[in-house]
Amino acid sequence: MERIPARRSVAVRVARGQRVEVVNTHGQQVVDTWAFATGDPAEWMSMEHSRVHMGRLSPRVGDSLVTNRRRAILTLVEDTSGGVHDTLLAACDRYRYQLLGATEPHDNCTDNLHAALAAEGIALAATPSPLNLFEHTALAADGALAIEPPVATPGSHVTLGAEMDALLVFSACPQDLVPTNGAGLTPTDAHYRLVR
Ligand SMILES: [Zn+2]
Repeated sequence: MERIPARRSVAVRVARGQRVEVVNTHGQQVVDTWAFATGDPAEWMSMEHSRVHMGRLSPRVGDSLVTNRRRAILTLVEDTSGGVHDTLLAACDRYRYQLLGATEPHDNCTDNLHAALAAEGIALAATPSPLNLFEHTALAADGALAIEPPVATPGSHVTLGAEMDALLVFSACPQDLVPTNGAGLTPTDAHYRLVR
C-alpha cells in the first residue's frame, strides 16, 4: 500500500486496463480524485459530463466516469465503503477556508492538485471539479445540501478501473473546519495500491 498523506496529494499514472484501489484507512477521510488523459491534460474527468452519462448524481459499481470529451476514463468496479461519494462540491481552496474564518494559510485540495501536476511537469489554468470519494453530501427533498460525516468504515475501499491511459491525482482533503472528514474534524492518511 502506498500512502496518501493527510492533507497532501499524490499523482499516480495508470495504463488502460489497470485498477487502483483507494482505501479509507481510518474510515472518515475524503479523497478528492482527479483523472487526466495521458498526453493531453486538457481532457479531464468531468463531474458534470459524468452525471449526464451515468444518469445519477454519484457512481455506483459498474458506472463509468467520463471526460469533458465524453469518453470513459474510470469505472467504479468495486466499492465496500457504503457507496456514498460526492460529485457536486468543488474542491476546497484557500478562499473556502478564508470564508470559514481561517486567518492563516490553510492546506487545500486545489493547491494539492496543482502541486501534484507541477511535479509531473503540467501547468493547468483550471481546476476541474473532483470526484470526492467517500464524501457524504446529504441532499434533502427541498434541494438543500449538507456536508455530513462519511459513512465509510475503516479499511473499506473503492476500486477504480482505468478506461484509458491516465494520470490520477488523489488529495487527502485537509478540511478540519466542517465535518467533511468526520465529526472529529481530523484529516488522516488514506492509502492506495495498483491492483494490476
Ligand atoms: Zn479538500
